[in-house]
Amino acid sequence: MASERQIRSASVLIALGGNVGDVRATFGKAIAHICGMAQGTLIARSSDYTTPPWGDEDQDPFINACIEIETSLDPHALLFVLQKVEQKFGRTREKARRWGPRTLDLDMIAYDDVSLRKPDLTLPHPRLFERAFVLVPLAEIAPDRVISGIRVRDGLAGVSTQGIERLPDTG
Ligand code: ATP
Ligand code: CA
Ligand code: CA
Repeated sequence: MASERQIRSASVLIALGGNVGDVRATFGKAIAHICGMAQGTLIARSSDYTTPPWGDEDQDPFINACIEIETSLDPHALLFVLQKVEQKFGRTREKARRWGPRTLDLDMIAYDDVSLRKPDLTLPHPRLFERAFVLVPLAEIAPDRVISGIRVRDGLAGVSTQGIERLPDTG
């Protein structure tokens, strides 16, 4: 018999990005921290990709990846965890320029089918379908997921993936 207090867990897609330091090593450690702090399970992890900078082009290329986790934290509690993990890996916000260089950026792309428009949290992520650097890794792990009414693989077909290259696995 199912437990009365069974905790429902959510499927959450998270985009990782960075262009300062050993970003791939940072990703590995950050994912472990996210899962630990969110009492989450890692369901899928994409490859890492090098991607041209977006929004502010005068900076080094980025590395991007996406993960899917399951967690029973609510969206705001998970956002808090993501921000703690960003800080742990040296992300500073005060002097940061928008879309500028950073050690680690963690964006919540989708949390189940939750729609939210709060000052500090919008779900699904509002700029997802403008961003090949998110759609390419996302399509690797969740091509059939429908986000904001659009299937990820269809969203990917609508953007240019020029300059995005999959990096070999580090093993
Ligand atoms: P972008 O959101 O365009 O990718 P960014 O990642 O560079 O830009 P940040 O400076 O990392 O922006 O975050 C700004 C704020 O965005 C955060 O303080 C956070 O509260 C808010 N935010 C809103 N929706 C989300 C989301 N889905 N995931 C992560 N942060 C979010
Ligand atoms: Ca971002
Ligand atoms: Ca962010």
